[in-house]
Amino acid sequence: MSATLHKLNVYSPDSLHEALRILGEKGERVKVLAGGTDLIVQLRAGVVEPREILNIYGLDELRYIEIEGGRLRIGALTTYMDIIQSGKVAKAAPILVEASKTVGSPQIQSKGTIGGNICNASPAADSLPPLYVLNANVVLQSLDGRREIPIERFYLGYKKMDMRPEELLVEVNMPVMEDDEDAVFLKHGLRLGDAISVVNAALLVKWSDDTVKDARIALGAVAPTVVRARDAEESLRGRRLDENVMWDAAEKTLRHISPITDVRGTAEYRREIAVNLVFMGLWELAYRRGRR
Ligand SMILES: Cc1cc2nc3c(=O)[nH]c(=O)nc-3n(C[C@H](O)[C@H](O)[C@H](O)COP(=O)(O)OP(=O)(O)OC[C@H]3O[C@@H](n4cnc5c(N)ncnc54)[C@H](O)[C@@H]3O)c2cc1C
Repeated sequence: MSATLHKLNVYSPDSLHEALRILGEKGERVKVLAGGTDLIVQLRAGVVEPREILNIYGLDELRYIEIEGGRLRIGALTTYMDIIQSGKVAKAAPILVEASKTVGSPQIQSKGTIGGNICNASPAADSLPPLYVLNANVVLQSLDGRREIPIERFYLGYKKMDMRPEELLVEVNMPVMEDDEDAVFLKHGLRLGDAISVVNAALLVKWSDDTVKDARIALGAVAPTVVRARDAEESLRGRRLDENVMWDAAEKTLRHISPITDVRGTAEYRREIAVNLVFMGLWELAYRRGRR
């Protein structure tokens, strides 16, 4: 049965401290609301049925983009539009700008937050493969203090996170990309705009002249969580990106994915798309480097 929104008790704290106090007191009984672009849909569909809502959207202290000590720090309430319009993100992690531009429509980009995307924990979330290849950390805070975990360790299974009921996600941060690194985001949806990913992928290459010094590849919507294609990454190290090397790496991706069939595509279709996205991503990176 769908929830009646006006029957929900909504708390709208004025400060992060107040939000953490409410969360500490209520724990799992209260559901955090950021931009609401996932949560309101889930409430209306009856997928979640909380009695109480903690509306953090007004907490401007969680809305920032900073570069500090070689790291890009993004507050949890930063929207996709903030990211798209940020010169700092364009410099430090342009792949996040690329990915943000593919999320929903301008309306969703203006309301939806990066923290909401991370905490909704969909394996198809578009910010996640870029955050994986950027080696991002998530920062969780409660009244007891803060803890920081690599994003890859944050997800424990389908929609399962290493997050306690009294914790809020407050920040995601990552190393500023170096001059010898380049990264690309690719998304395959069922239409050109406002589409949820059938498969998405992020690839980051660190170059040494014309050979790959290091590579990181992450794919979404092909397993219960985003996955790294480590065998494919390994096969690229120390190699020049010729067509054989790229196809070989792309095919090795299959060892790491276990897609399901759902309304957006069959498992077989997703396997095919995953291989092709990785090949296309490598091709694009090689092209940009002037190696093709
Ligand atoms: C029409 C439409 C198109 C969309 N297109 C895309 C798309 O192309 N790609 C994509 O990835 N997503 C898409 N989405 C999903 C959604 O917009 C994003 O996941 C968005 O980033 C969610 O952010 P939000 O602030 O709206 O989160 P909310 O809906 O407010 O929250 C989402 C979840 O995260 C929890 N949460 C939020 N913030 C925090 C926090 N700081 N700490 C702890 N828990 C928190 C909430 O309790 C809830 O469970 C689309 C949604 C719609 C309605």
